[in-house]
Amino acid sequence: MFQSQVVVLIAGLFALQMAIVCAVLRRSAGMERSGLTSWAIGDLIVALAVVLLAAHAYRPEWPLSALPELALTAGLSLMVYGTRHFVGKPGRGLVLALLNLPGIGALALHAGQGIGQIWSGAASGAAVLEGMPAVAGLALAASVAQVLLLLELLRVALPRLPAKRGTGRLAVLSLVLVALACTLLAGAQAWPPLSTLVDGHPLPLPEQRDGVTVWFVFGVVGLSVSFALMAHDRLRRIIERRARHDDLTDVLSRGAFWEELELACKRAERQRTPFTVAFIDLDHFKAINDLYGHLAGDSVLRHFAGLLRKAAPARAVLGRLGGEEFAMVMPDVTLETGRAISVRLGASVRSTPCPSEPDPIAYTISVGMAERQAGENADAVMRRADRALYDAKQMGRNCVSSHDTAEPAGMPRRPRVREREPS
Ligand code: GH3
Ligand code: MG
Ligand code: MG
Repeated sequence: MFQSQVVVLIAGLFALQMAIVCAVLRRSAGMERSGLTSWAIGDLIVALAVVLLAAHAYRPEWPLSALPELALTAGLSLMVYGTRHFVGKPGRGLVLALLNLPGIGALALHAGQGIGQIWSGAASGAAVLEGMPAVAGLALAASVAQVLLLLELLRVALPRLPAKRGTGRLAVLSLVLVALACTLLAGAQAWPPLSTLVDGHPLPLPEQRDGVTVWFVFGVVGLSVSFALMAHDRLRRIIERRARHDDLTDVLSRGAFWEELELACKRAERQRTPFTVAFIDLDHFKAINDLYGHLAGDSVLRHFAGLLRKAAPARAVLGRLGGEEFAMVMPDVTLETGRAISVRLGASVRSTPCPSEPDPIAYTISVGMAERQAGENADAVMRRADRALYDAKQMGRNCVSSHDTAEPAGMPRRPRVREREPS
């Protein structure tokens, strides 16, 4: 008895710790709508269920031995509710609350009719489940509700199993496996009384089921660990994304773009494939700021990033190098094809002014292009694209200029090609 009580209390302690973990994760920026609050409260209720379970084992004469099961059902409902929030499908709160009706009813009866009546079964049976001992009926209802809740958890979580390997996939997979194990446990608890009921016999008083319930509590704590891993994985991805992406335009920030460019250089060298870089600068952007204000200037930057994303070929890497300067790496794209893409981008910018009140803001871009040559590193190819951009500005802006061949640093500039679509 002593040992089993220690195990019960350890399970409760784990549930309490998971409540703290969920509450701490919830405090991180970006995790507001991730269902962690519901999981934290759910864990607290599971810890309460454990206390009730322990108390019941010490004082078996206490009433309502089904209370721990009912509390577990309430905790599980909150966890399912939280998971629905996590996957962006909030709602069904009413359905989940309905599954707790036996628990709510039992508490109401408990308060209204007094301890003796509930435990006697004869009095409460009439009120709760006609002709059955109340405790057995409540425990059965709780187990059936738990099975339904766990099936809902599986239904919500399974489609979210990421195809890519990683901690996110591991977390969802472990949630699914633990939920399956818990479903089996709850089903094993529900089946014997259910089959008795189907056979038309009255429900017997539940046997001593603390052992199964403790396993179930550990299972629910396991669910909580898996969910915390899922939440942690989401938080990690949010932080990584914020660190690598520019807030305003959502393309890569300078540092991340440079890393990708270096990777592209190494890959191109290894595979002997071409890639082309476009260095893009918005024309007279300072005048746009001066004329329309900085907020409107920001809208123009966002608008341009949208057009850039649309024009970019597959696998292109887009970055904002600073201010109104952007760059695009186009893997497996030759200078000729890259130039055609940039010319189309320039035309789309000219024909699609940025929506603004009272009038849309028209703007243009200048583009400098360079195709990576064998042996060239990120620095060298970007320097050539930058020179081509300088030429585009010199040639009157609103055009695409390109460097055809690599040149060693310090060599005089080679002729460039200038292209602009008729506007
Ligand atoms: P050019 O055609 O030669 O490129 O001229 P320009 O006016 O576009 O270039 P310049 O470098 O003179 O001005 C860039 C301006 O971009 C100056 C700066 O205030 C503005 N800027 C830089 N970052 C931001 C930003 O995040 N938001 C806004 N609204 N403006 C920015
Ligand atoms: Mg500019
Ligand atoms: Mg500039």
